[in-house]
Amino acid sequence: MTRHYVIVGNGPAGVTAAETVRRHDTGAEITIVGDEAVSFYSRPGLAYLLTGTIPEKALFSRPDREYVRLGLHRSVGRVTAIDPGAHRVDLADGAMLAYDRLLLAVGAAAAYAFMNVYGQKLTLEHAPMVITTVTATVSTLTILVVLPPRHWFAPHYSPVQWLFVAASGLLSTVLPMNLMYLGIRRIGAFHASVVSIVELPGILVLAYLILNERMTLPQMLGGVLILLSVALIRPSGASGV
Ligand SMILES: Cc1cc2nc3c(=O)[nH]c(=O)nc-3n(C[C@H](O)[C@H](O)[C@H](O)COP(=O)(O)OP(=O)(O)OC[C@H]3O[C@@H](n4cnc5c(N)ncnc54)[C@H](O)[C@@H]3O)c2cc1C
Repeated sequence: MTRHYVIVGNGPAGVTAAETVRRHDTGAEITIVGDEAVSFYSRPGLAYLLTGTIPEKALFSRPDREYVRLGLHRSVGRVTAIDPGAHRVDLADGAMLAYDRLLLAVGAAAAYAFMNVYGQKLTLEHAPMVITTVTATVSTLTILVVLPPRHWFAPHYSPVQWLFVAASGLLSTVLPMNLMYLGIRRIGAFHASVVSIVELPGILVLAYLILNERMTLPQMLGGVLILLSVALIRPSGASGV
């Protein structure tokens, strides 16, 4: 029996999955549905295209003939609904695709959708400080432990090193974020944003004293822009928020 695999998402994950399925199931029918009209392109290559380093053609590492060679149907459309019971997906233009196996390779879209829906629910149920503390702690720990040099969950860390990781997370993110919220509550958003520009000269002085760094001209211009932006903002409403 010929299996129909439907892969939603025509990015690196979707295309790699399609190639892998083809290797293991040579007779399978494989459809990749993506909501971008173009065939697979290199995302990192976008920067090189914009700077004129590579021609547009070089961006498309899997041109249409590659899909044909692998026997992949490429369908352009946005999947709007999945019915797992009936094994089908609905597309925005009203079309429907039946599948035997479905893979969602939609990149960060799913995570963002989850964050938006769940995040909204959380903000209704918990105080901003609780949410900030939890998210800042988790993200700081993740960054410190998982990102390069990628000590996955760092089983080799000693208790002292773990303490250091936790303390740096607290000091660098959780504490400042909570102080920021406290400040905004106390003096209002307008005054808080004015006071926060003290950070700029503070960092400059510290960078000079500790690292002997001096500002370059573009950095100075950036600093001037920040200072100007404060001059432009005005408190609105009695609370200044
Ligand atoms: C400018 C840029 C530079 C990058 N540089 C690097 C780099 O140097 N190194 C590195 O490791 N990573 C880099 N990345 C990140 C890398 O591109 C991503 O990690 C990678 O693209 C993720 O692949 P993916 O297939 O999971 O998701 P995506 O590439 O996001 O692909 C998902 C696809 O699914 C489609 N889709 C989403 N929802 C639906 C729907 N409902 N229906 C139909 N289609 C849908 C989207 O349109 C998209 O085409 C860069 C990203 C960008 C944007």
